[in-house]
Amino acid sequence: MQVSKFWRELPQRYRLEGKKCVQCGKVCFPPRDICPSCGSDQMVKAILPKRGKIVTYTVMYTAPANFEIFKPYIIALVQLEDGTHLTTQLTDCKPENIEIGMDVEAVIRKINEDGKDGIIYYAYKFRPVLKKAEKKLN
Ligand SMILES: [Zn+2]
Repeated sequence: MQVSKFWRELPQRYRLEGKKCVQCGKVCFPPRDICPSCGSDQMVKAILPKRGKIVTYTVMYTAPANFEIFKPYIIALVQLEDGTHLTTQLTDCKPENIEIGMDVEAVIRKINEDGKDGIIYYAYKFRPVLKKAEKKLN
């Protein structure tokens, strides 16, 4: 998984918005203008489901500049309920508690804070969905 590519795509991550092919129904995230399945350019905006499962994940112990406060952070490949795959940062969890196949849901979280003017950027991240039994224990 390419971390630099992940951060470049932040605007789409903020909206959690993809594009759907009118011809064949393929959903792309990040959005593309040309369908990778059938080559059609008839792509329409598609809001992605906010829940999915972890397909695979990686723990990053070094962070890009301005992201050090999140070190170490976890980037996961998530399969959403409609079958769309996306790479996302996991939040509200520790690396040792992550499992492949775990249910996750989208939440809005702080991504970056600009030291000079105090601008704070938010984006979707995913966190594990708590099962009812676990909630009772807390
Ligand atoms: Zn298509």
